[in-house]
Amino acid sequence: MTTKESQGELHPGDRVRSLFPFFTEGPGGCYLDSAATTQKPAVVIDCLRDVLVNHNANVHRGAYRLSAHATELYDQARVKIARMIGAKSERSIVFVRGTTEAINLVAYGCELLFNPGDVILLSLLEHHSNIVPWQLLAKRRGLTIAFTEITATGELDIADYRAKVAALKPKMVAITQLANSLGTVTPIQEVVEIARNAGAMTLVDGAQGITHLGVDVESLGCDFYAFSGHKMYGPTGIGVLYGRPERLEAMQPFQGGGDMISYVSVEGSGWAEVPQRFEAGTPAFPEAIALGAAADFLTRFSKTEVHHHEVELVGFALETLRGEPGVTLYGPATNGGHQTSVCSFSLDTVHPHDFATIADTFNVQVRAGNHCAMPALRKLGVQATIRMSFGVYSSKADVVSVVTAIREARRIFGR
Ligand code: PLP
Repeated sequence: MTTKESQGELHPGDRVRSLFPFFTEGPGGCYLDSAATTQKPAVVIDCLRDVLVNHNANVHRGAYRLSAHATELYDQARVKIARMIGAKSERSIVFVRGTTEAINLVAYGCELLFNPGDVILLSLLEHHSNIVPWQLLAKRRGLTIAFTEITATGELDIADYRAKVAALKPKMVAITQLANSLGTVTPIQEVVEIARNAGAMTLVDGAQGITHLGVDVESLGCDFYAFSGHKMYGPTGIGVLYGRPERLEAMQPFQGGGDMISYVSVEGSGWAEVPQRFEAGTPAFPEAIALGAAADFLTRFSKTEVHHHEVELVGFALETLRGEPGVTLYGPATNGGHQTSVCSFSLDTVHPHDFATIADTFNVQVRAGNHCAMPALRKLGVQATIRMSFGVYSSKADVVSVVTAIREARRIFGR
């Protein structure tokens, strides 16, 4: 299976809002928190409803047609996801709850492959969900965790990365494709190549990357790629772990229960083939099927056009905010670096949380805080930022509304 760039039957911009009931029937407004979770198009909502109304029967169990059909739809969703990310086989696709569970699954599943003293190399840009599971593993197995440095504007320091790979010979490298705190696009192809040449396993956190950059896992060459449905216009409670078949084969089960076994006896049990081995219990099959609909939706856009749209919005936000007194901007694009879909800033006299509350009175939703990326923010010398994050439905008008809120906040809190 290979991905091919869609010609873009749909185009990002505020006209696409008509496809999202949130904007046409719901609260709408300037929703600028898509990095936390995206709004859902009608095709995804309708698909979820259709499964629950017309096809609801447990998968992999019943001998009756309804169950067989639900199973078929679930299997088709796996094929759609494999196709979207360029995986050779749908056997590489494990349905999980989200990125967090995917990374925990790998950290647990690979546990016995690690020996005391082995090194896991991360980066200071990582979301907590790509740090804490490794810390737990390190504690269990006596491993060392090292972090690749970032520059003053939040770019991955590739020279430091190269040096650490050479010096520490990590067994696992786990790095994000796109940082949720700053919008940093990492040179992920180079990162994976350097790690592979040094014999390390690689996990790419694609929680943001899948939506804003896309991926072809075969040409990227990573061992694992993790993402969440709810950040790619799909439902919550469903996500994906892609694993190379031989890597998945070498992993121990994460959870035990129904569906993940080949047999169970009082003496012991045998495991099902991958990917079922990692899908214990009743899966979130309606959500998985609706994730397939989200994949269909996303592939109706040209990746290049989505990227262009979101980079342009970041550029417009930086240009506009630069002219505003009291604003400090963060991220690679402040210095000509590669950044997309996120614009992080702070204000001189207004705490980010206060700003988010004031912005809300203008029906502008922004995120305030550490964005589950405390090491990155600490490195930049800041505890919290205000984050606008964009999706295919975002527009320059959203950014202009943020400026209105900034002026009001600085008027209230003093300039
Ligand atoms: N990694 C990145 C880069 C993220 O942005 C997020 C969520 O914001 C996660 C991991 C965790 O995703 P989830 O909470 O869906 O498991």
